[in-house]
Amino acid sequence: AGRLILILGDQLSMGLSSLRAANRACDTILMAEVWDEATYVPHHPKKIALVLSAMRHFAARLRAEGWRVDYVALEDAGNTGSLADEVARAMGRHGTDHLIATEPGEWRLMRQMRGWPATTLLPDDRFLADRHGFAQWADGRKGLRMEHFYRLMRRKTGLLMDGDQPAGGQWNYDHDNRAPPPGALGLPEPMAFAPDAITAQVLDMVERRFGHHFGDLRPFWFAVTQADAQAAFAHFIAHALPGFGRYQDAMLIGHAFLHHAVVSPYLNLGLLDPLDMCRAVEAEWRAGRVPLNSAEGFIRQIIGWREFVRGIYWWQGPDYARGNVLEAHRPLPAAYWGAPTSMACLSACVAQTRHHAYAHHIQRLMVTGNFALLAGIDPHALHEWYLAVYADAFEWVELPNTIGMSQFADGGLLASKPYAASGAYIARMSDYCAGCAHSPKVQSGPRACPFTLLYWHFIARHADRLRRNPRMAAMVRNWERFSPERQAQLQTDAQAFLAALA
Ligand code: FAD
Ligand code: SF4
Repeated sequence: AGRLILILGDQLSMGLSSLRAANRACDTILMAEVWDEATYVPHHPKKIALVLSAMRHFAARLRAEGWRVDYVALEDAGNTGSLADEVARAMGRHGTDHLIATEPGEWRLMRQMRGWPATTLLPDDRFLADRHGFAQWADGRKGLRMEHFYRLMRRKTGLLMDGDQPAGGQWNYDHDNRAPPPGALGLPEPMAFAPDAITAQVLDMVERRFGHHFGDLRPFWFAVTQADAQAAFAHFIAHALPGFGRYQDAMLIGHAFLHHAVVSPYLNLGLLDPLDMCRAVEAEWRAGRVPLNSAEGFIRQIIGWREFVRGIYWWQGPDYARGNVLEAHRPLPAAYWGAPTSMACLSACVAQTRHHAYAHHIQRLMVTGNFALLAGIDPHALHEWYLAVYADAFEWVELPNTIGMSQFADGGLLASKPYAASGAYIARMSDYCAGCAHSPKVQSGPRACPFTLLYWHFIARHADRLRRNPRMAAMVRNWERFSPERQAQLQTDAQAFLAALA
């Protein structure tokens, strides 16, 4: 008998290592929609629909290319709801005793699958840095900095290199990428796709089964095939990439996407290839159609940040998820699930998340993440929220971004300083504050911006730790220069706000 080839929901790549090892003539591919995977956190309905529809389209493509595919749908009679049991059932059905799979993208499944009998796990080589190589690089260093890793990846791939020098003479053009929000006129929009018959069926099923989860299922406009994902990416290059760098950090009410690519869901499912994308972006710059700061900024996100956080995830092991060095224990406020809040910025980011299962990086880092950091929200509760609500959320990428970058819960392993900012930052980078019940200009009382109150509360409560951080010490000194009256007022106002939050 042939072997069974298991393909998971985020392994939808024709070049996957398990597919390369398979024999079309005698092996059978198993794909299974299982209840356990759909419910270990309450995923956004759009995310569930995206994954299931993309899986069904991928199975159809494999069949069209001559593969034998055994596809277990979520509502099939006899579906046990667990991946291990579906694999065991399929082994019996096909009378085979050998399973081949590409390594999964999270520790939870990795630990399960390593215990399965007669299973060959192949490396997931859809990344530029293999996880063992990353661990070797990381083990030998005192501090990990993304920038060092990124330069290594630039040299390795040759992207934006002129010989052994970085194109344009600098490695990183981030300082050009902090423009305040552009006008709303003429903003690009990501490419949207009308649901086909397969997607329509998935949407009805998701509505029945998961309609009660946080998030709007419709309108559903994500790409669910490689061809459509590639078209969406080409659309980004033509319309949004030129302004990508400059407006990367800006936030505008009612405009969720600005100049962002909105490709992380496709990339993380395997519908797009990271290196192909970066080469296409470099070609645009070489052809003179986009500025260098945009091309470099985009490539850095993909070959720098995306690969760096993945390396840290596997290198640190499953306990990384429990990091909480700042000892933050407050429960996640109901506002994250859509309860009304007086903070216009938080309200806008959550509403947009509910609607699109999407928020761009600065909204995640400097609004929802920053608020949780300042207010001392339990990082693990926040991690489960991010994992649930974003269409692109898979643990290998979401967890280090949350625990490390956004919450500093790993004590500075991933980020050199906490991404803590007062209301002044949000006021500069967005138009949220104009319609808010609070104001960053008001110094005390209920109209004062909670971000600013909590910022000083955060600096004060972690002063001993932050004083030792060269990038934070000046802020501690600022706090210490405030008059005792001002300090007392800020503490009283912040505590009143936190008490009301509970
Ligand atoms: P763009 O801004 O257009 O960037 C292009 C691409 O670069 C993205 O598609 C993404 O693949 C990559 N990228 C950019 N920044 C990062 C980063 N910090 N880490 C990894 N890749 C990056 N990204 C996810 O893919 N899944 C997640 O679950 C996720 N959770 C996050 C949680 C928090 C708290 C934070 C601060 C960031 C998180 N990110 C996550 C990173 C980033 O916010 C998203 O990748 C990005 O917003 C996706 O939108 P986009 O495709 O429009 O990105
Ligand atoms: Fe957010 Fe403060 Fe601005 Fe209100 S005033 S939108 S709470 S930053």
